[in-house]
Amino acid sequence: MDADSVECPFCGEPGEVYADYDESLPGEQIFVQDCAVCCRPWTVRVHVTAEGELSIAVDRS
Ligand SMILES: [Zn+2]
Repeated sequence: MDADSVECPFCGEPGEVYADYDESLPGEQIFVQDCAVCCRPWTVRVHVTAEGELSIAVDRS
């Protein structure tokens, strides 16, 4: 599974995180993106470790 692929926490449909984030910047970046299917807002958390590993989580706002 691609790192940008996520599952909508509202409708369960697969989706993609397309918002801008800096994967070379260690730390947590949080932004809101609307689901392309049900239009409800995801809270997207992008976490980049000091080693440059990327993890993405989406939650209901
Ligand atoms: Zn949805």
